[in-house]
Amino acid sequence: MKQIEEVVAHQRAFFLNGNTLDYAVRKEQLQKLKEMLKTNERGIYHALKKDLNKSRHETLTTELGFLYTELDFAIKNLSGWMEPTKVRSPITHKGSKSFILKEPYGVSLIMSPWNYPLQLALAPAIGAIAAGNCVVLKPSEHTEATSALLADMIQDTFNPSYITVLEGGKETSEELLKQRFDYIFFTGSTEVGKVIMKEASTHLTPVTLELGGKSPAIVDKDANINLAAKRIVWGKFTNAGQTCVAPDYVYVHEKVKFKLLKAMKKQIKSFYGKEPLKNDDYIRIINEKHFNRLVQFLSEGTPLHGGDTDPAALKIEPTILDKITWNHSIMQEEIFGPILPILSFTNVEDAAAVIRAKEKPLALYYFSEDGKMQEQIMQYLSFGGGSINDTIYHLSNPHLPFGGVGASGMGSYHGKYSFDTFSHDKSILKQSTKFDIPFRYPGNKFAESVTKRIMK
Ligand code: NAD
Repeated sequence: MKQIEEVVAHQRAFFLNGNTLDYAVRKEQLQKLKEMLKTNERGIYHALKKDLNKSRHETLTTELGFLYTELDFAIKNLSGWMEPTKVRSPITHKGSKSFILKEPYGVSLIMSPWNYPLQLALAPAIGAIAAGNCVVLKPSEHTEATSALLADMIQDTFNPSYITVLEGGKETSEELLKQRFDYIFFTGSTEVGKVIMKEASTHLTPVTLELGGKSPAIVDKDANINLAAKRIVWGKFTNAGQTCVAPDYVYVHEKVKFKLLKAMKKQIKSFYGKEPLKNDDYIRIINEKHFNRLVQFLSEGTPLHGGDTDPAALKIEPTILDKITWNHSIMQEEIFGPILPILSFTNVEDAAAVIRAKEKPLALYYFSEDGKMQEQIMQYLSFGGGSINDTIYHLSNPHLPFGGVGASGMGSYHGKYSFDTFSHDKSILKQSTKFDIPFRYPGNKFAESVTKRIMK
């Protein structure tokens, strides 16, 4: 598509002319982005209500609020982040100074999914702008209202040679991936992540892949059960389970299983009422395809809570499924919906060994009051990031990098990590011309003997 080629060419020219580099420019663009969100808040609430039935509260906390925090953090810290980092030089480099320059990659491509369609499109863009890059943004085709609003807002706020939104589905993505970008930041499924990495290799474009997986919530026998229940229910059913770091399943010690289930049922009622399907603010499933995929899981195990659906509104009650085994189909893929399977164990070390043998999840949550065991579990299991005695909350701390490992992704962002992700670390040695230590040059016998002695 000619249009896509032209967009990338204009952005490359804009970048190579040095338009994105100055601190003042970058800061101003971040401020403009914040202003853009403030001015369009009403439209944003409306678009997210239309796309996912998101309430104002959820839009404020999980989309806008998150972006405001990230923007304020970047605006406040940008000048420090841009400073060259001085590093030490060894004795063999006497007279020289060494430092690292943060260099923008150039033209970046950001591809985002539908589940937090505003946050996941713009949070990486904050890092790209802060680091001095141009941005082509490809939001998800499944959240049409938010994608269209994003395109309008960005067009009204920024020069398209600097930041632009290209809407479209798979074909647009494929066409975009043929272009030479200097960085690709992708958020989405593991399956598509593999396609992105393969295509990026054509131009040796570096990638960040923010993917998904089955994130466990392990509840041990000594956990604070009421708090565990509350935090798991919140993490699972926020956005109707369509959250990359939502607890995918609960793995609970037999001894406390009954108590946990009872507490979770109570929590669901307290958050969503006795009839969640009639709750105006309860989130819907993104489309019929995903709704039908999720409904099939409802016939597995024994429903302990929920299980009702409203096909016309694409809503599924917060559901707890008991008597689930690792062989059920619900345990073979990321659920990404409001259905919570329960598995149990009698020994947490055995449970950890089972999880360790599986693909590395994006998140892991461990509920226990035993400090030693907390440390052991955190070290023994590999996962993107997680929490002890909480769910999801780790991702809103801008001091923590957020990202996956193995099948759940590579690279990370949030806070300064977003700036670092979109910057190349350029190493510089500034040599003295006042003297010239002869050791490294050939034909110096004394230097040779000293070098041999040092290297022994
Ligand atoms: P997806 O992979 O289907 O789509 C993501 C993006 O890729 C969209 O912009 C889409 O248009 C594009 N795309 C789809 N198929 C493509 C193809 N064949 N070639 C090129 N581009 C293609 O993901 P989704 O369904 O929108 O989102 C759900 C997934 O995203 C879940 O697996 C979830 O765990 C994951 N996710 C991860 C994070 C994270 O931060 N790690 C955040 C949210 C969602």
